Amino acid sequence: MKDKFYVTTPIYYVNARPHIGHSYTTIAADCLARHMRALKGAENVFFLTGTDEHGQKIQKAAQAAGINPQDFTDKMVLVYKELWKKLDISYDYFVRTTEERHVDCVRRVLEILLKKEDIYLAQYEGWYCTPCETFWTGMQLKEGNCPDCGRPVEKITESNYFFRLSRYQDWLTGYIKDNPDFILPQNRRNEVLSFLELNKLTDLCISRPKERLNWGISLPFSPDHVVYVWFDALINYISAAGAFDAQDVYRSKWWPADLQLIGKDILRQHAIYWPIMLRALNIEPPKRIFAHGWWMVGQSKMSKSRGNVVSPLEMADAFGVYA
Ligand SMILES: [Zn+2]
Repeated sequence: MKDKFYVTTPIYYVNARPHIGHSYTTIAADCLARHMRALKGAENVFFLTGTDEHGQKIQKAAQAAGINPQDFTDKMVLVYKELWKKLDISYDYFVRTTEERHVDCVRRVLEILLKKEDIYLAQYEGWYCTPCETFWTGMQLKEGNCPDCGRPVEKITESNYFFRLSRYQDWLTGYIKDNPDFILPQNRRNEVLSFLELNKLTDLCISRPKERLNWGISLPFSPDHVVYVWFDALINYISAAGAFDAQDVYRSKWWPADLQLIGKDILRQHAIYWPIMLRALNIEPPKRIFAHGWWMVGQSKMSKSRGNVVSPLEMADAFGVYA
């Protein structure tokens, strides 16, 4: 489709209530979508937001609340939807990673990548940070702790499936160099490029054994594993906007996204994993990824794990939606 505009926000992780960082990204996307509807006609604009609902933190939060994860996420999704209603957010579709269409798309992606041998089974040994849901190598640890959050890590050995990020590193570096507006602002683009130039990408572990985590999408070729939550979540941008045909070709009137808005803390996933996943699937990359800064409280990033969040509902009540 010519002259369309497809804009996305990240899908928000529903292990806790929204804070104004979430609202900031979503309001920015909303302003752009409204502007583009005025310019191109409402039928030519697709504004996607939604919720990321799998993974360990959600399994734990549900356990703590004494309910099953599906009921827990159903409740949390309502909190987000009510907030967007209150803030008058004009999204065209709200994707949930627990909805059938998304689950089917993720399983299809895995089958296609396995067929291409972009996914393989191997022994994994590493250090795992549960709050961050991230594996680290011994080299990456900071004084034996998680380099992101500083909390203790656990040593884990298990069989897992891996996605061949390494196969596409040269392609990605070349693509970013040839397309100066692909990652913006410029300092974020430079950050990704220098990371790619200084590091050799290691393949991404994209499964978790069910004995450790069962709240996720089962791998179609291994019922003992669920999909790693980030690999699952990124696929929302295509699962909500199209589908694969019988020949494994992705069809969408909206894709490629014209603009993917993110916070700078999720740059690695969006500027490295995501374009490589698309490339492996023979799908065009998004036209632009824009990473904005963080909301700060004093000197720290606002985040639920630091317990310093400002509630957007309280802000809206105090100042009004259009302040
Ligand atoms: Zn951590």
